[in-house]
Amino acid sequence: MASGSIVCKFGGTSLANADQFRKVKQIIGSDVRRRFVVPSAPGKRNPEDTKITDLLYLCCELAREKLDFSEPYGRIRARYRELVEALGLGLDIDGLLDQLREDIRGGASSDFVASRGEYLCGQMLAGLLGAAFVDAAEAIRFRLDGRFDPVSYGLLEGRLGGDGLYVIPGFYGADSEGQVKTFSRGGSDVTGAIVARAVGADLYENWTDVSGMLMADPRLVPDARPVREITYREIRELSYMGADVFHDEAMFPVREARIPIQIRNTNRPDDPGTLILPERELTDELIVGVAGRPHFTMLYIEKALMNQEKGVGRRILEVVASHDISYEHTPTGIDTVSVIMKDEELDGKGEALLNDIRRILEPDRTELIPGLALIATVGEGMSHRVGIAARLFVALADAGVNVRVIDQGSSEINIIVGVEEEDYERAVQAIYRAFVE
Ligand code: ASP
Repeated sequence: MASGSIVCKFGGTSLANADQFRKVKQIIGSDVRRRFVVPSAPGKRNPEDTKITDLLYLCCELAREKLDFSEPYGRIRARYRELVEALGLGLDIDGLLDQLREDIRGGASSDFVASRGEYLCGQMLAGLLGAAFVDAAEAIRFRLDGRFDPVSYGLLEGRLGGDGLYVIPGFYGADSEGQVKTFSRGGSDVTGAIVARAVGADLYENWTDVSGMLMADPRLVPDARPVREITYREIRELSYMGADVFHDEAMFPVREARIPIQIRNTNRPDDPGTLILPERELTDELIVGVAGRPHFTMLYIEKALMNQEKGVGRRILEVVASHDISYEHTPTGIDTVSVIMKDEELDGKGEALLNDIRRILEPDRTELIPGLALIATVGEGMSHRVGIAARLFVALADAGVNVRVIDQGSSEINIIVGVEEEDYERAVQAIYRAFVE
């Protein structure tokens, strides 16, 4: 419907103080297509600062324990007041905050209280921009099972149908009974994606405090190059390995509608940022990025003639699931199966898991091997090319890194290797250098 329009989501640091609000106004005013604005709650002004959302959760926790929450509440009040005054807004912020304090005292849900960060921020931004404010609780719905309800698209379309400028606060909606409910942390990205899909936007701009993605974690590769273009598939493979510029769930609404996403920097609005697309033209660059994380454990199972038995894999995974553990990969050999899990998933369940595996599978040998790091090397350019794996493994060998596990999905756009945690940094650096320089 709103063809030619852009949805702009601004993260917490883009709205942390009055100067940041002014930058947002400048950005919105510089392109008439920027008609739908989705704000987060004010974030950190400096590394030691606390996000408004965290202060709101703290108030709730204290109130639930019947403790005094005036200190964090006072900090919230001071920040909003300062913003309203500095921006010269005619908003009755004291009245709204008095009401919030009463709600917290009265036992309002933590979802409701946390959502007020975005709600109040949205009211201020709408005032500053002269935009219409649309409360997300009236247009974004959750089903009874807690999942997003696609009826929201129609509701949003109905509310956002005019030609003007709209502000829709991020992070929350309401269930079918009208109770406010939030997405998971960082969920304003998801709201932005849903709004983009509902209005049929041409572009979803995600404004943050970095100029897009880098090809590797700059703490490991200080001169890592920026990523200009990346496909939805590629970013998905990288983000689950820890490259976190964008909320995991936010990809899906825009991906289905093939709406491009652009990650941009509010503090450097002229930087091109990173464009996320359904497809991209391949360049000479074979990979788009390398990302990984330590703290995985491998459940190793060995049993003679396992390959002739039927249903072994199913039974192993059933045991894993019965301990409420989600797994990442299952590399197999002739008589071996391994299941790789995040340490946080395994958390204290290791012994019980091994006992069940021994009892149900009767293996010749089984053990838990901790201390594994997984690294994903990702790029559409790798697919159907000869010699990619060779280049990767030669680089690791030259760096003296022993590869414990290998997993390449048949999509061929991602090669995952598991290495000892102590080799993690060296391995990422070696792979980056092998492909990028
Ligand atoms: N304010 C929320 C949070 O801190 C949502 C968001 O910023 O996207 O998680």
